[in-house]
Order: sequence, then structure tokens, then C-alpha cells
Amino acid sequence: MSKIIASAAIRGAHKIYNRAEEMYKMALEKYGPDQEVGFPNTAYYLPIIYAITGIGVSKIGEMGKILEICRKLIPPPVKERTHLPYLAPALDAGMATFFAEEIIESIRYLEEPNLYLANSEDVTETNIWLGAANDLIFRKRGVEFVDGTAPGFAAIVGAAPDPQTAAKIALELQEKNLYVFMCAEHEGKRFAEQLIESGTQIGWPTRLVSFGPDISAAVFAIGFACRVAMAFGGVKPGDFRKNLIYNKDRTYAFVLAMGTVTDEWYANAAGAINWGFPTIADTPIPQVLPTGICTYEHVVSNVPHDHITQKAVEVRGLKVQVSKVPVPVAYGPAFEGERVRGEDIYVEMGGGKTIAVEWTTSKRMEEVEDGRVEVIGKDVTDVPPGSRLHFAMVAEVAGRNFQEDFEPILERQNHHLINQAQGVMHIGQRDIAWIRISKQAVEKGFKLEHIGKIIHAKYHQDFGAIFDKVQVKIYTDEEKVREILEKARASYEHRDNRIEGMTDEGVDVFYSCVLCQSFAPNHVCIVSPERTGLCGAYNWLDCKASYEINPEGPNQPVQKGECIDEKYGQFKGCNDFVFKASRQKISSVSFYSLMVDPMTTCGCCECIAAVLPMCNGIMTVDRDYLDITPCGMKFTTLAGSVGGGAQTPGFVGHSKYNITQRKYLKGDGGLLRMVWMPKRLKEELADRLKKRAEELGIPDLIDKIADETVAKTEEEVLAYITEKGHPCLTMEPII
Ligand code: SF4
Ligand code: ZN
Repeated sequence: MSKIIASAAIRGAHKIYNRAEEMYKMALEKYGPDQEVGFPNTAYYLPIIYAITGIGVSKIGEMGKILEICRKLIPPPVKERTHLPYLAPALDAGMATFFAEEIIESIRYLEEPNLYLANSEDVTETNIWLGAANDLIFRKRGVEFVDGTAPGFAAIVGAAPDPQTAAKIALELQEKNLYVFMCAEHEGKRFAEQLIESGTQIGWPTRLVSFGPDISAAVFAIGFACRVAMAFGGVKPGDFRKNLIYNKDRTYAFVLAMGTVTDEWYANAAGAINWGFPTIADTPIPQVLPTGICTYEHVVSNVPHDHITQKAVEVRGLKVQVSKVPVPVAYGPAFEGERVRGEDIYVEMGGGKTIAVEWTTSKRMEEVEDGRVEVIGKDVTDVPPGSRLHFAMVAEVAGRNFQEDFEPILERQNHHLINQAQGVMHIGQRDIAWIRISKQAVEKGFKLEHIGKIIHAKYHQDFGAIFDKVQVKIYTDEEKVREILEKARASYEHRDNRIEGMTDEGVDVFYSCVLCQSFAPNHVCIVSPERTGLCGAYNWLDCKASYEINPEGPNQPVQKGECIDEKYGQFKGCNDFVFKASRQKISSVSFYSLMVDPMTTCGCCECIAAVLPMCNGIMTVDRDYLDITPCGMKFTTLAGSVGGGAQTPGFVGHSKYNITQRKYLKGDGGLLRMVWMPKRLKEELADRLKKRAEELGIPDLIDKIADETVAKTEEEVLAYITEKGHPCLTMEPII
């Protein structure tokens, strides 16, 4: 602990102790040792003292031994510059401070019977100080700390610069479902009074609890936490270690020091650190950054008011809970399968007609402001019904424990998260996203920013454990969208390439993915190192990371088991798994074939491959190619006929990346069977195609593969490949 803080905390502890001793002597004289003392209607005596020492103080006479403990705990006063290498002396001084303050406050209950309202949840016109919670209030409110309704509390000490700032901070804390416990004053002002002045309703029902006018009322907050551990955590009185640890791990509390930090405040701040509750100050007091007792930093100072809530939440490691998805339309799984068609479309993005790209990427903690959503460019309200927009959405995620590997997992959720908004349809992922927003949704006030709000709320709800903050930027301006597209593609490539070099033989476990069962109820992807999920967004590593994050989730390990057929890639373990996961619809799947038991396809595959019998080869088409292909169907028609989760020999859905993976349709002859691809797809994959072609001993294979510029029908493909001497012409018959 900073030596300056430590010496100030110790000085503060001495001052508070002296005051407690004085009051004790006075009370002993005036009321005698048998006079009952305590906080009203509680079985927990003076709760901090009770929780930590096991001593239930109920009479004035019993206070003597507590003061004696305090004297032992508080180190002798230290000079300003004395070096204190350990936290311990200041922590002890802080603990003694709380004991002394409980003595002070309990004697005040005797001396100033009207100071606190004592048994009321609400403040009154003439008194706003609620004092210690009685057991009735405590039980009702304390249980919320356990069942998750309230993650913890912010203990606000002092006052904001003005009532508006106070109201804003209080609201931010309320939105995080935190209780706000208030005490002490700064330059004659108090936070609770400021809230009243700003017209904010305070009291237990709004979670804005005005404990008391002085710093010593901080014990009502800490005492509350101690009681939670004893009442709901089964921690025995006197088991101080367990009480401190229980609160450190389960009660997300912190001190917001607003205003001049006095020696007494320091003493209280040091005390709070014992429970793992850090202090965040708006003044430039020395910081105590090295972590140790608190989850992260102990004291962070000079934080501007518009960042103080966010900072506190971050320092305390509080996971943000967003209980409601803030959109003007209904939201829930019930709307996931809903379509938005023709006349109903207000605006459409992607789907091959405009660019639509979604990218989730990680940033440093200080670069992300949680919950911030920006729309850069035209929004739905700026265009007439029936319009198209380009669309790029970047979700920037930060977290102390966030790993780059989690990016694709979050990103892949966008599809079903956005789809759950009524009147919004979402298909695809990555750079083949496709979004429609209905007229009805726009009428209700749905705008692009709400897509960002959905992402913020749902990422937190579903994946709060792996990240801390997310902000969303949505671009609709073509130039900007293209810029993002490029960055996103570089990132997809980087993700895809991580799997390079891994083989199916090299692992015993594949992973399932049933994320798409909400659309194709019998569909299950089995993802192996050499067969990336057909949506292109999940490779084996992603599924593995997803399983680690959420062991009950959509990606389960599948033991490969015995290899039944090496050529087609059939494994006993996988077949058994698929049989169950497809609800007994599919009993065997080949990993490397479209002719024999091909894997099923859901609606979101990047490409669909089809056999071209006349050519003795196969073709593949990606979603962005809108024309009829040589197999006689457009992509959409193909997707419609093979994409429902059924097995359709002769066709298979796959990712773009998979085309250049070594096992791609190996059972049917692999890449050497490829006779037609859209030109753009060929160009996109050119480098990797070339590399694979060289490995296969036909370096100019890519020139032998036809595209729409040379062949639109199967006959034209045949003519082209014959002229080029395509290797498939001499391979064994595919049918
Ligand atoms: Fe998972 Fe397959 Fe759907 Fe991709 S296509 S999300 S891998 S089930
Ligand atoms: Zn799918």
C-alpha cells in the first residue's frame, strides 16, 4: 500500500479510535455498564464486531474489550514519509476503524434517538437518514445479494460537484442493479441530499440508501455485507477469514470517494480493502494499484465523474448484467424463425446486393466504453421504405480474461441474437450477412443502433463470463464499409489459418455444433480440423474454445471412435453422435464425400457443391453468386432444396475455406474433381488454391477450372475442361 495512504489511514484510525474511546467513557459514566446498546431490531449485535471477533456487544460495559482489541490492531502513528512495505498495518488500522465506528454509531443511537429513522424503508420529509437496516429490511434486501438480483453495492462517501452529476451517477449504478449506500459529507454537501435536490427518489425501494450524515455511517454498509455472509452464506460469527473471503468473492462492492479524502476516509477505505472492496476516488489521491487482496486494484484515483461508474465496475471485476434487451420491438426466441418478405421490407442489407459484414474483435480495456453504440452513416430513418444499405458492424470487446480465440464465438452468435428481434430477419455471418428490417419494426422505432444494443445486452447476458465490455460501431457509408470489410477479411483469414497444419488423424475428438438447430432442427455439424463448419465461422479450434467456455453449450466433444471407412471418412463415434443429435434422422455421415452419406446442410452454408455427372466432376457455388449455375440451379434454389438438414447425395454444404483443406471431398476425388466455380470465389481463394494444386501435382489446376466467363451450362463446362485437359476426365466415374 502506498506509504502516504497507509500513514493517513493509520492517522485516521487513531482519530476515530480516540473519538470512540471518549464516547465510551462518557456513556459509561452517564448510563452505566449495564445499559443496553446496539442497532435497532437486529440479532446481529454490532455486526462487524460480531462477524469478525464473534463477540456480541449488547451492553456498554462490553465495549471496553473491543476498544482494547482496537488498540492492539492500530499500529503506532507513523510519520508522513515512513515506508510501510506491507498492506497489513493499514488493513488492521482499517478494521479497528470499523469497530470504533460501530461503537460510535451505537452510542449515537442512545444519545440522539431521532438521528435515524431506524425502522423505515423510506425517507421522510424531515429526515432522510435511514441508519442501520433492521433484520426485517436486511432479510428482504440481503437475499437479493445472494440470488443475483443485486450484485452488490456502491458505498458513496462525500458528495458530487452538483446534484445533476449525483443523479447521473446514481442512475448508472441503479442500471447495474447495484445498491447505493451513502454517507459522509464533502464541503458541507452530501450525496443523498443532492439526490433529493435533483428530484431523485431515495430509500430502500429505489436501492438508493441514505445511511447517515457522517463517515462513521460507513459501518452500516460494511455491517450489511457481514450480515449477508452470516445469514445467507452460513459463515459463523467470529470466522473472520471466511467472512472476508465470502464478500470478496460474492459481494461486488466498492467505495466511491467523492471529494476531499480525509484521514478518516482513508481509514475507512483501508478497512474496506479487508473485504476486497476497492476505493475509486474522483480526486488525485495516491493510487494503490498492485493487486493482492482486492480482485484488481485497491485504490484508483482522479477518475472523472462520467467514467467513475464504469471504472468502479471494472476495478471491482463486476460482471455487467443487462436484464432487458432495450429495443422498441418484442424480443425473444419466438421471433427467431420469422421471415421478412417482399412488401414488408423497409430496408435490406447484404444478401448479395449490398455489402453486409459483421466482425467481432478485441480491444484493450481502455479503448472500449461498455454499451456505447454508434451509427456512422445513414440510418433507417434517413432512407425511404424499400431501400438497400451497405452494412458493417464492428463489435469491439474487451475483458481482463478475454482471449482472441473467443472472437469468432461471440461473432457467430450475432445471427440468432439479431434474429430474435420481432420484424428483423438475419441470415448468414461474416461477410455474407443478410439483414432485413420490416416496415412494422421501423414504425415502432427500430433503428440500426438497436442492432448494436442487442449485441451489447445479449453478449453480456450469455457470455458475460468471458469479457467485461463491448461497444458497437455500425457503418452504412460504402467507403467505410469497404474499409471494415477488408479488415474483417484479414481477420477471418487469420482465424481460418490457425487450423492449418492440424489433421483429422492428429486428434481423437471432433466437435459437434447444433447452433443451427433453431432453423434446421435435425441438422448437426461435426467439425473436424480438416472440415471447418459449413458456415465458415466455426473451425475445430473455435468449437473447442466454445466448449471450454460453455460445457453445456452447442459444441460438444465427439469421440471419433473406430474408423469405419477411411476413404469417405466415417467414424463410429461420430455416427452414433449424429444419430442422437439429429433425433434419429441421420445414422451415418461421411466427412469427405458428397456422394455417399454427405453431411447435412443448414441454411447458412457459405457454399454448396453439386455433382456434374456429364463432366465426371463437381462444381461449387458461394452465396454471393446470384446467377444460375451449371447444375441448373441458383444458390438460393440449391440452399432451399438441400439446406433443411436432410441428407441429399450429390450435394453438400461447405465453407469456402474447406475447399482448400486437404480432406475436401477426398472420398470423391478431392479438389481434382473441381470443374466449375464462380470467378470471384476462385480469385478470393487463388493463393490457397494454387498451393493445393501444386501439392496435388497439377500446378495449373486453377486454369482448368471453368467459371461463368467461359461456361454457364454443364455442356459448356465439359467443352472447356476437355479443351484444358482437366484431370477429372481420366478419373474413375463419380457415379
Ligand atoms: Fe454450427 Fe454448423 Fe451452424 Fe456453423 S453451420 S453455426 S458449424 S451448426
Ligand atoms: Zn446454419
